[in-house]
This record gives sequence, C-alpha cells and structure tokens, in this order.
Amino acid sequence: MHLNRETLQALKTIVGADAVLTDANDLVVYSVDGTTHCQGNAEVVVFPTDVDQISRVMQLSDQNDIPVTVRGAGTSLSGGPVPMAGGIVLCTSRMNRILEINGEDFTVKAQVGVVLNDLNQVLARQNLFFPPDPQSLLAATLGGCVSENAGGPYAVKYGVFRHYLLGMTAVLPSGAVVTLGGNTMKNVTGYDLPQIVCGAEGTLAVISDVTLRLLPKPQASRTVLAIFDRVVTAGQAVHQVRASGVIPAKIELMDNWVVRRIEENLPLGIPLSAEAFYSSNWTAMRRACNRKPRL
Ligand SMILES: Cc1cc2nc3c(=O)[nH]c(=O)nc-3n(C[C@H](O)[C@H](O)[C@H](O)COP(=O)(O)OP(=O)(O)OC[C@H]3O[C@@H](n4cnc5c(N)ncnc54)[C@H](O)[C@@H]3O)c2cc1C
Repeated sequence: MHLNRETLQALKTIVGADAVLTDANDLVVYSVDGTTHCQGNAEVVVFPTDVDQISRVMQLSDQNDIPVTVRGAGTSLSGGPVPMAGGIVLCTSRMNRILEINGEDFTVKAQVGVVLNDLNQVLARQNLFFPPDPQSLLAATLGGCVSENAGGPYAVKYGVFRHYLLGMTAVLPSGAVVTLGGNTMKNVTGYDLPQIVCGAEGTLAVISDVTLRLLPKPQASRTVLAIFDRVVTAGQAVHQVRASGVIPAKIELMDNWVVRRIEENLPLGIPLSAEAFYSSNWTAMRRACNRKPRL
C-alpha cells in the first residue's frame, strides 16, 4: 500500500474530489486492460484535465515514491496500462479537447484523451483524414495509440502512428514539463525525442498533447472481396495486386479456419468451402458476400 490519507487528500486538491476514484469496484475496472490475463492493483484513479495537473500528480508521486501507471481507454493488448506495482492510475479520458486543426498545414494538435474515431469524425467535416486505425478506434485514445505506436489495416498504405507524429507536450517522472518535436515535417535538428516516447508504453513520460500530421480525405474508396480455393493463391494475389502498382488502403487475408469462426459468430454468407479470402472493408464485405465470383 503506497497511499495514506494525506496523499489522497493532496490528489483531491490537485484534480478535484470528483476526479478521484477509490471505491473497490471502480479500482477493479482500472486494474486490467484488453488482455485476459493481466491483473494489476490500482489503489486510486485520478482524472487530470490539463498538463499542470499531470505535473503536480507526478511531483507528488515522485516525492512520496508512489508508482504511477498512465491509462487512456485501457484497450491495450500488451498489459501497458495495468498497474502491476499498485499506486496511482492516471487516466487521461477527461483530456479530450481538440486544440487546433490547421487545414492549411495539414496538422492537428489535440489533448491525449481524444478518442481516435471522434477525431476522424471532426476532421472529415473539413475533408481531412488521420489514417492509422487500430481496430479499437471507437475507444482508443491518441495518447494510448502514440504510446503503443498503434497501426491497423491502413498500415498497408499509410503506415502507423509513428509516421504522423510531429510533436508533443509531455511530463517527466519528476513533474517537469517538456515540449518535444514541433509542428512541421522538416523539424529534423537534434535528437528525434517524440519518436523515443512513441511506443514506450508510458514508461518514459506522460504525454499531455500531441501534434499529428494529416492527409486530405480520399475522394472515393471501393471495396473488393475475393474468394479463393487455395490459400497459397490468395497470398500470391496480395503480392500481385501490390506489384501491379495498386496499393490498397487495407488488405486482409483470412483462411478457412477464420472463415468458419466468422460464420459461427456473425453469419455473413461466406462460402464455408473457401480456403481463403481477402477484403478491404468489413461493412462492405457484409453486403458483398454471396455476390462475388470464386478465383
Ligand atoms: C479489438 C482490438 C483490436 C486492436 N487492433 C489493433 C491493431 O489492428 N493494430 C494495433 O496496433 N493495435 C491494435 N489494438 C491495440 C491498440 O494498440 C490499443 O487498443 C490502443 O493503442 C490503446 O489505446 P488506449 O487509449 O486504450 O490506451 P491504453 O490501453 O489505456 O494504454 C496503452 C499504453 O499507452 C500508455 N499510455 C496511455 N496514455 C498515455 C499517455 N498520455 N502518456 C503516456 N503513456 C500513455 C499506457 O500506459 C499503456 O502502456 C487493438 C486492440 C483491441 C482491443
């Protein structure tokens, strides 16, 4: 046990009493992530709303030797947000403001608790697009995705989070606030510190906001579903599509075992005899099933 009455009170003073959880039922929720086997031991959960509050929480933990585990939405599949050492869980879900969208420079600056899908919905209204798409995008936060260097099916064409990260504000374990990187692509002088924090799973610093590169929203997209009698042919087709000069935004190959599990759980009408298929979009695939020729 790392916390006493005084440190709990100090945390309430920093973030506000309604931003501190100590109820045992709440703590269970914040002691796990998307993995099924990691179980930590949160002693208190705090919800800061700005960089100053993060800094003061980190100073308090540093002075009192209390472990801090950073958490976004807790969807990680790597155990990163699980508080194995106990102590404070610092959850960024209330840091959900988009600070600036710059349509001329194709950049966005946002607090780390912004949910990826929410960001893209706002960007779409300005014909802008942020490609990396871990399939937890309905819940995953920008901070969690930067810290996991998340990607997803769009990685085929567009790459992963790392490729869009320009800069960030972060808080070191001492509570010191640092600004890393900048807001332009040609910001190349010196060590590339944002890239060190990216993928570090919260072990180096607490990120409070990020500046990300954007792209224009694609004008159109089309979905292809192809069904194959042999999985080897399906694999070769992926290579042939790319070699022909067409780089699909997403491409996923599923073998017969996966086809059967899908049909058991979410019947779409995929032929069970198919050895493999690949598709670039699940929603469209649902519509397209039953209508596609076998290759
Ligand atoms: C159904 C599903 C599908 C997925 N598919 C993919 C996929 O296709 N590709 C892929 O790459 N990933 C995938 N993931 C994992 C994905 O990378 C994570 O879900 C996501 O990046 C985590 O975001 P989060 O907000 O939930 O972060 P959390 O799970 O809360 O935290 C993730 C890590 O980031 C750290 N962290 C969080 N916020 C901060 C911060 N502000 N500062 C410092 N550290 C911080 C945490 O300490 C932890 O180590 C999938 C997950 C699920 C559940």
